[in-house]
Amino acid sequence: MNRFDGKVIVVTGGCRGIGKAIVEAFLNEGATVYAWDYKVPTPDEVFIEDEKLRQNVRVIQVDVTSSESVELSAQKTIEESGKVDILVNNAGITRDNLIIRMSEADWDAVLNTNLKGAFLCTKALVRSMMNQRWGRIINISSIVGEIGNAGQANYSASKAGLIGFTKSLAKELASRNILVNAIAPGYIRTAMTEKLSDEQREMFLKNIPLKREGEPSDIAKVVLFLASEDASYITGQVLNVDGGLVM
Ligand code: NDP
Repeated sequence: MNRFDGKVIVVTGGCRGIGKAIVEAFLNEGATVYAWDYKVPTPDEVFIEDEKLRQNVRVIQVDVTSSESVELSAQKTIEESGKVDILVNNAGITRDNLIIRMSEADWDAVLNTNLKGAFLCTKALVRSMMNQRWGRIINISSIVGEIGNAGQANYSASKAGLIGFTKSLAKELASRNILVNAIAPGYIRTAMTEKLSDEQREMFLKNIPLKREGEPSDIAKVVLFLASEDASYITGQVLNVDGGLVM
């Protein structure tokens, strides 16, 4: 008996980085997982190594900034699976710059992907959870949504927005037994953080009490906890997973 046998999960941005680790963790515990992503693996790319696990994953191409694309993906997912139990709003981008140099396009791209994307995906899938009176929504925010970061006004605004979104939905959906929480990762080793300079990396490491960068699996484990029955009395919370960087 696995913790997520019979459960259907959607993970946005599920084909790489933290999203892929979340997809793999759910597959390992018996779920059927829909990885929604902008760039999907080509037919000759192996997305999930294990052949048995691969049978329980579907990849759907989506642009989370487009309501049309999100609704189409939701329709495909629900037509095939009959329901969605758990949504992980993980897709996210950065377009860093100081405010005086930040273009309107960079502001819009980050807010549309990170914040509006979560709104559109939630709106498209929450009805399925409401009908069955059981659901979990987990939003991947960031510690910079709590403490800010120079050069990331757009990104930190979008991640702070996700925290407000999480708390409002937690209040709105509690009566339907839909729990809504956020995770605020610190510094996690993915393509997103590869862009940082050695100097920036050193600075982060110096300030992390656990003295190591996080791995995508560190986030995936906490997502699974919040999605599990062990977390059935937790809603509207933001859990920092950052090696102690923010406390
Ligand atoms: P990656 O850049 O590795 O992955 C982000 C994923 O989101 C990619 O698969 C990307 O797709 C997808 N995505 C971006 N735009 C869209 C879109 N319009 N529609 C659908 N999918 C899209 O980043 P991480 O794995 O590091 O980040 C995952 C989440 O964790 C993000 O929300 C990020 O903000 C958050 N986070 C990460 C931290 C870190 O240290 N890494 C720290 C704090 C928070 P594609 O590859 O096709 O572009």
